[in-house]
Amino acid sequence: MSHYKVAIIKGDGIGPEVIDEAKKVLDAVSYAHHFTLDYHDYLLGGAAIDRVGVPLPDETLKGCMQSQAILLGAVGGEKWDSLESHLRPEAGLLGLRKALDVYANLRPAVVYDELIDASTLKPEVIRGTDIMVVRELTGGIYFGQPRVKEENKALNTMIYTREEVRRVAKVAFEIAMGRKKRVCSIDKANVLEVSQMWREEVNALAKEYPDVSLTHMYVDNAAMQLIRNPKQFDVIVTGNLFGDILSDEASMLSGSIGLLPSASLGSQVALYEPIHGSAPDIAKQGIANPIATIASAAMMLRHSFKQEEAAKSIENAIIKALKQGYRTPDIASFGAKNLCSTDDMGSLIADLVSKGE
Ligand code: NAD
Repeated sequence: MSHYKVAIIKGDGIGPEVIDEAKKVLDAVSYAHHFTLDYHDYLLGGAAIDRVGVPLPDETLKGCMQSQAILLGAVGGEKWDSLESHLRPEAGLLGLRKALDVYANLRPAVVYDELIDASTLKPEVIRGTDIMVVRELTGGIYFGQPRVKEENKALNTMIYTREEVRRVAKVAFEIAMGRKKRVCSIDKANVLEVSQMWREEVNALAKEYPDVSLTHMYVDNAAMQLIRNPKQFDVIVTGNLFGDILSDEASMLSGSIGLLPSASLGSQVALYEPIHGSAPDIAKQGIANPIATIASAAMMLRHSFKQEEAAKSIENAIIKALKQGYRTPDIASFGAKNLCSTDDMGSLIADLVSKGE
């Protein structure tokens, strides 16, 4: 029987509530698929500031590094907003991502048939959309030096090394192999030298994946195509800045922020978290949608533990729960037959996983 050591970071706001539901589902799936998960709780963000005075305690970093995967709720809240920026909850999360060197951020944008009306786009445009956006996360213009802000001018630097491009593109090609075998690399090679090199390197890597068809698209066109015909995409790979914008655009195809998971992969421990924040406006009311975090747990099983069947069984259970008309309030107007709480939704998905339905 396989055993996996998982660092759990509940964080702030709705973080603890959605993580509890993801653990419920993980317990059910690990039992059904004959593996065990050994959880260790760590503090991050506001919860860490309140207890030990810093947003990323050494113990958290050490514990995460010694785990095989990290599952995170969310951090942040008004209570800590007046602190200096390096002491705020978000600094803890950025510090953790940096220390883990998680260079590939995966954000699936899947449109659930049952929630097709939750999107602002027409059903015929989005039905069947299933995109995986792979965004480079630790390089590019967000980190490039020099960065300068003076009285009359300011400057940032978009910089990539061939190695940085290659490693993130490799993640995209590997993922495409398990999907429809199509990669679209997005850049601005008609204007930027850094994009021209990006393209060369992606083309070179593509030779190692003869079964995957590779296309290139300029970022301005990609922004249009995502809205015009999202179904044309399978896996998208792009740099940090373009990926930040396009992954948010893609995520909105599916309607609600409460549904969307993410994975951040590097060469060491990977981090899994919903894309939403700590939603202080609905915290402690039992109404947060736990699906994004539950789907993040499924990504953890797939990418860190290679438990594909277990991951699939969670994803199928989510679809089944939606098919049965269960809705948390954020998605309640779209086909709700059974309005439910955070706890109800987690229990139902765990139950469906246990029954193997
Ligand atoms: P948010 O994602 O927390 O909330 C935006 C809106 O979406 C709110 O109306 C909220 O109620 C709703 N929402 C979010 N998740 C939901 C869920 N699971 N179910 C139902 N509704 C949900 O973004 P925000 O309000 O801009 O930020 C709140 C705090 O979270 C801030 O302190 C911010 O810095 C932090 N934040 C953290 C992360 C992270 O931990 N990765 C990401 C974004 C924001």
